[in-house]
Parts: sequence; C-alpha cells; structure tokens
Amino acid sequence: MLWKCTVCGMTVEGTDAPEKCPKCGAPKEKFIKLSQEEQDKIYTSERTNDIHMEMIHLCDKIVSLCKEGIDLKLDPPCVDVFTKAKDEAYIIKQRSKAEIAGHIGKGKW
Ligand SMILES: [Zn+2]
Repeated sequence: MLWKCTVCGMTVEGTDAPEKCPKCGAPKEKFIKLSQEEQDKIYTSERTNDIHMEMIHLCDKIVSLCKEGIDLKLDPPCVDVFTKAKDEAYIIKQRSKAEIAGHIGKGKW
C-alpha cells in the first residue's frame, strides 16, 4: 500500500501510514491512502523516470566533455563538433526534465 503525505507530497510504502513523515515530519493523520489507480501510475512510471534521470546525468557529462574539447581548440571543425554536441545534449537534457515535470503533474512519480 502507498501512503501520501498531504503536507509535502512524499509517498511511503507500508500496510499502515508511518507515525511521521520521513521528509517533513508531519504526523500520521496527515497521510492519505492512495487509490489503486494512483499507486499503479507511480509503480509503472518508476523505471521510465529513472531512465530520464540517467539521460539527464549523461547529458551533463556530454556537456562537460564538450566544454573541455572546446577549450582545447585543436582545430575549428573540431570545436564546431563539440559546440553542436554541447547544444544538442542540453536540448536532450531539458526535454527529459520537461517530461519528468509532466509526469509529476500527472501523478506518475
Ligand atoms: Zn511530509
């Protein structure tokens, strides 16, 4: 069963609501039991959200490698490749972030 803190939004697994919220410390009475539909949304989106987060992390790495490559200035075409890749990685990162924000708004988190 999943319980949701109505103060901060944290969800906690258990047969009963926790004595207090592990995040904000709100008491047990502030928890509501999520419906089966709400629980399914959270469980089925878990791996997808993890993949988005991993992509965001990888894009950060690409951006930082590209910055290093740009600074090395081996030759203009090379700098151009790194500049384009940096911009593209940033787009991928922001797109995944926007998608995660959409999931949160739909309870898929
Ligand atoms: Zn809380």
